[in-house]
Amino acid sequence: MLASKNLKGIFVFKFQIMQLVFATNNSNKLKEVQSLIPDHIKLLSLKDIDCLEDVPETQLTIEGNAIQKAEYIKKNYGYDCFADDTGLEVETLNGEPGVFSARYAGKQRDANDNMDLLLENLKGRDDRSAQFKTVVALHLNGKLEAFTGICKGKITTKKYGEKGFGYDPIFKPSGQSKTFAEMDLALKNEIGHRGKAVMQLVEFLNSL
Ligand code: IMP
Repeated sequence: MLASKNLKGIFVFKFQIMQLVFATNNSNKLKEVQSLIPDHIKLLSLKDIDCLEDVPETQLTIEGNAIQKAEYIKKNYGYDCFADDTGLEVETLNGEPGVFSARYAGKQRDANDNMDLLLENLKGRDDRSAQFKTVVALHLNGKLEAFTGICKGKITTKKYGEKGFGYDPIFKPSGQSKTFAEMDLALKNEIGHRGKAVMQLVEFLNSL
């Protein structure tokens, strides 16, 4: 926030508009994140900067992929930006699908195929504990920062709900009676992995 005196000597506070690219083509993620970002930060999508290519995410960790995407946009398009990468880690499957969540059931990256495979792999297992992990990597003024958000819960035995995206219909966060796909965006953002990571990003930006 900028503080200065006006002509009458009274302090006025102004928010400086900051422009940041959110390196995603996922309209659901954009909707989730947009609702958490304060008005003085103008979010640009990849389409807004004419980035129509697939941004590479070839690292072996969630954090590595988030950093790779943010660095790619800065290097090739010149914008300060942030990128997120998310994985669903299932305890009894040794953390799988994890960094491979998007292509768990194959290159087609289909959400229903991924959920069906996960439900199949968990058939008959009592322990259905899992967590979503999001890492948001920020590339700002030549520096990199990373923020991690985790949401613990359980994998249901079938799909419930129509909202959200990805694995939302089979993930029930701890302490909730509904899956992410059955709840409103505001509640998902409040308790969810991406919301937690983005709120740390917002706090960091507000502290500058
Ligand atoms: P990515 O972060 O876009 O690479 O996502 C990896 C995989 O996790 C994809 O299959 C997404 O659909 C899924 N995913 C990412 N975020 C969420 C979420 O908030 N809920 C459910 N699935 C998600």
